[in-house]
Amino acid sequence: MASILESAWQYLITHFSDFQLACLGSFFLHESVFFLSGLPFIYLERLGYLSKYKIQTKNNTPAAQNKCITRLLLYHFGVNLPVMIFSYPVFRYMGMQSSLPLPSWKVILTQILFYFILEDFVFYWGHRILHTKWLYKHVHSIHHEYATPFGLTSEYAHPAEILFLGFATILGPAITGPHLFTLWLWMVVRVLETVEAHCGYHFPFSLSNFIPLYGGANFHDYHHRVLYTKSGNYSSTFVYMDWIFGTDKGYRKLQALKRYEAEASNNQTSREKSTTTTLTLSALSRAKANFVSSIDASKQALSELSPPAPIPAPVSGDTGGDGGACAFRHIRATPHAVSLDTTSHSPSLARIKHSSSGLRSHVVTSGSEITYGFK
Ligand SMILES: [Zn+2]
Ligand SMILES: [Zn+2]
Repeated sequence: MASILESAWQYLITHFSDFQLACLGSFFLHESVFFLSGLPFIYLERLGYLSKYKIQTKNNTPAAQNKCITRLLLYHFGVNLPVMIFSYPVFRYMGMQSSLPLPSWKVILTQILFYFILEDFVFYWGHRILHTKWLYKHVHSIHHEYATPFGLTSEYAHPAEILFLGFATILGPAITGPHLFTLWLWMVVRVLETVEAHCGYHFPFSLSNFIPLYGGANFHDYHHRVLYTKSGNYSSTFVYMDWIFGTDKGYRKLQALKRYEAEASNNQTSREKSTTTTLTLSALSRAKANFVSSIDASKQALSELSPPAPIPAPVSGDTGGDGGACAFRHIRATPHAVSLDTTSHSPSLARIKHSSSGLRSHVVTSGSEITYGFK
C-alpha cells in the first residue's frame, strides 16, 4: 500500500511543480470530493429515495437546489481558488513540503486529529459570533437560507464567512507545516464531514451512531431548522463544546422528548384501545404556554433585526421564521381523532390522552402538524 502511494506521489511530483500541486491540485481535489459526495443527496431528495432516513419531511425545490450549485461554482472559482493561490507562500514559509518519503501514518493521523480539535474550537467561537445580530443579518443569514439543508449547502455562505471560517480549517496546517499529502487528506475528510453534517439524512450507519462526541447530521440539522437566536449547536464536528458552554440545551431537550415519545409509543401499542378520546387540557395548556412564549421571543428577536434589510426567507419552504399570531393554528378534536397544527419555534411536548390507555405524547416542532386517529 505504502509503495503504491509513494509511486503515485512520485509521478505527481515528477510531472507537476509544487505550486501546481498545492494550488491547482488542491482545488481540483476539493471540487471532486465536494461535488461527488454532495450531489447524491440532491437526487435522493428529488427522487424520494431513502425518505425514511430523512431528518425533515420538507424538501427543497429543484430551483433552490440549482441556485445553490450556481452560487457555489461562483464562490469556489471567485474566492476559494484565489485563497489557495495567495496562501501558498504562507504554507511554504510554515514548512509545507511535498517530497518523498511520505510521512508515517502515525504522524499523519496525529496531525489530522489535532486539526479536527483545533478547527472545532475555532469554528465554535467564530460560528457563535456569526450568530450575533449584526453579523447574522449581514453575513451568516446566507448560509441559513436553507432551513432544510442538503450536502452541498455546507459551503453555501457569504464570501466573508468563507474567509472567516476557512481560517479555522487552515489554521492547524499553517501552524504545523505538514506534508502536502497530509494537507490533502485533511481537506478530504473535512469536506466529507461537513457534507455529511448538512446531508439531511440520518442513516443506521451514520458515524454519529458509532463515534462518541461526534455531532453528525442530526446535530447540525437542528441548528438549521430552529430560529437563529435559539439554534445553538455551533460546533462543526464534535458535541462537547456546545455541552460545556450550554448552547445545546434545546437540542438535548428535543432528543429527550423524542426518546420519551418512542417509549410512550411502545407502551401505547401494548394497551387496549377504547372508543372515546380526551385531550388532557392541562398538559396542552402548558405546551401552549411554551409555544406562546417561544413565539413572543421569536417576534422580539425578529423585530430587533429591522431595519434595514430583511433576513432572506428560507427557500426550502420551511416555516422557521414566520412567527404566527398564535401557537396553534388549529386544534381539531373528534371522538375518533385529534389534530394539532403549530407554529412553534421550540420543541415542546403535546400530550393526548386516550380514556383507557394513558397518555400518548408527541414532540411538536416548528410548523409541524400531527394527527392521531383512534378506533
Ligand atoms: Zn449558523
Ligand atoms: Zn450549516
